[in-house]
Amino acid sequence: MIEELHPAFQTEFEQVLARNPGEREFHQAVFEVMLSLTPIAGTHPEYASWSILQRVCEPERQIIFRVPWVDDQGTVHINRGFRVEFNSAIGPYKGGLRFHPSVNLSIVKFLGFEQIFKNALTGLPIGGGKGGSDFDPKGRSDLEIMRFCQSFMTELYRHIGEYTDVPAGDIGVGGRELGYLFGQYKRITNRYESAVLTGKGLPWGGSQVRTEATGYGTVFFADEMLKANGRSLEGKRAVVSGSGNVAIYAVEKIHQLGGKVIACSDSGGYIVDEAGLDLDLLKEIKEVRRGRLTEYAEARGGAVRHITDGSIWDVPCEVALPCATQNELPEAGAKALIANGVELVAEGANMPTTPDAAKLLVQAGVLYAPGKASNAGGVATSALEMQQNASRDSWSFEKTEARLQHIMETIHHDCMETADKYGDPGNYVMGANLGGYLRVADAMVAMGVI
Ligand code: GLU
Repeated sequence: MIEELHPAFQTEFEQVLARNPGEREFHQAVFEVMLSLTPIAGTHPEYASWSILQRVCEPERQIIFRVPWVDDQGTVHINRGFRVEFNSAIGPYKGGLRFHPSVNLSIVKFLGFEQIFKNALTGLPIGGGKGGSDFDPKGRSDLEIMRFCQSFMTELYRHIGEYTDVPAGDIGVGGRELGYLFGQYKRITNRYESAVLTGKGLPWGGSQVRTEATGYGTVFFADEMLKANGRSLEGKRAVVSGSGNVAIYAVEKIHQLGGKVIACSDSGGYIVDEAGLDLDLLKEIKEVRRGRLTEYAEARGGAVRHITDGSIWDVPCEVALPCATQNELPEAGAKALIANGVELVAEGANMPTTPDAAKLLVQAGVLYAPGKASNAGGVATSALEMQQNASRDSWSFEKTEARLQHIMETIHHDCMETADKYGDPGNYVMGANLGGYLRVADAMVAMGVI
């Protein structure tokens, strides 16, 4: 693995392995960025003399805390809370909170590391951070969720703030959780500090389009990729993994742009609906009932297959959007997609494609966008929410969506330009990693060794 890196970065990577033992996902995320830096090896002596790469790989601050809470039966539970404040060179730390049993320091660090470059790509003044807990919200009552969120914020509040660190949602954290978190922050601090969290509800400082933004943005980005290659989404069959917030609004935008989504998934399996997914039904089951996809199959009767073995990537399609979680699209999935003639893969989730799978897609000539570029619409709209909060304003849906679309077009353009300039046209991975890195590195150089 390490020999794939330019010799100028191998020692740095060895240091990352030694300093962060066992953090597999974090190593994977760092490796991928270092690989993309090959074209600038030796070209920026100021980066080397100021140790920019070593500093980028070391979070500015990592907070780990106990989260005790009481369930409906009176039993005490202890979870672990995290906030990794990774890099604030271009703005306050910004990134979501994930509540999922798989959360550990490696996961939070890989997410926080990716967030640095993603946020830089948006062109907006936001640094990188991420947090969360190994709390499992599945099957918990509203009151249990509220008690957990209140306990979590009772520690987190002292570390965050409009000018310091601005959390938002991620897997397991949506409007309901952000409401409880914001309420507790407001109560403890006695401050109505709207821009301390994003993804808020519309009546209390939220932004139009924030809910839709990650999914919509991913599809806007995919559309740009197709257009740049003289193609379009019109009439294309799409597969979208996941069925959470990102997936649902990716499906919605694909349908609006003339494509047809025929499959989506949850942790219990996947459904194939050849007629095109019924979005109202999907939203009712996932957003209102917080139910399972088996309910979708039951409601649609024999027309829909619910499959519990195999993989969603076996479903033939032209467009594939992994919108569930990290490493969900492995080598076998990439092989199946390629064999079935996939044209484009754009990541709605963070790091969903394994390195081997990504390599296969690129070698096969599939248009492939990494999440740092294609899913940046969520955090970009969070930054628009911060802007609205700062000016005590709220914009219309149309204005906000137009801003989002323009941001995604600009990210696409910048990635293409960077890839062209550094000798690998069409390589979105290099374009995104290197483009984001250069912005952060230049700001770090300007600010000296801090
Ligand atoms: N969790 C989202 C992401 O992965 C959004 C973060 C935010 O809005 O701050 O980018």
